Amino acid sequence: MKKDIHPEYHQTVIRCACGSELETGSTKTDIRVEICSKCHPFFTGKQKLVDTEGRIERFLKKYEKFQKKQEEQNN
Ligand SMILES: [Zn+2]
Repeated sequence: MKKDIHPEYHQTVIRCACGSELETGSTKTDIRVEICSKCHPFFTGKQKLVDTEGRIERFLKKYEKFQKKQEEQNN
């Protein structure tokens, strides 16, 4: 890589609000984010996706019934 024609590229650490740090290369330094792959509910399956009221289970049961119905109709 030739010097001078590229923006300065260095190792930096992305810090998330959850406390996790992710090392990466970037032209920016001291990157801060509020959510990362470690604390996003989509990845953790916790937090907002916690199934406190058994809603997901209920939905799955409903869906199972629906599928059986459809199978019966197709046969
Ligand atoms: Zn995070």
